[in-house]
Amino acid sequence: MSKLIQPKFDLEIKGMKFLGRGPKASGNGLGWSRSENIIYKCVECGSEMIASHNDYWNCECGAIHLDFDAGRFGSNNGDDNILVYSKNGQTKKNQNIKSKYSLIELIGKVFRKKN
Ligand SMILES: [Zn+2]
Repeated sequence: MSKLIQPKFDLEIKGMKFLGRGPKASGNGLGWSRSENIIYKCVECGSEMIASHNDYWNCECGAIHLDFDAGRFGSNNGDDNILVYSKNGQTKKNQNIKSKYSLIELIGKVFRKKN
């Protein structure tokens, strides 16, 4: 198991809720969540990436990397050194309600009647 690095910044961020470390904290079982409400933050440099990011990404210190085409995400310091936050302290339940609504919106767009 990799060593836990303690951040040099305050774990509590205004407008976000600290969920924990690693993929488990992102609420998606063993994998990393790709929710637009989840933020990943490097424990070393504090760079932040939204979980729904859909391109290559590296944090400032180079520890965290997202290989978008291969679907790989992780930190050279180990998964536990990626901090997981949710936006605006939303609970999982709220996120589910929100995604249901966006699905309805999407269906509405796709099946909109032509005049
Ligand atoms: Zn970093």
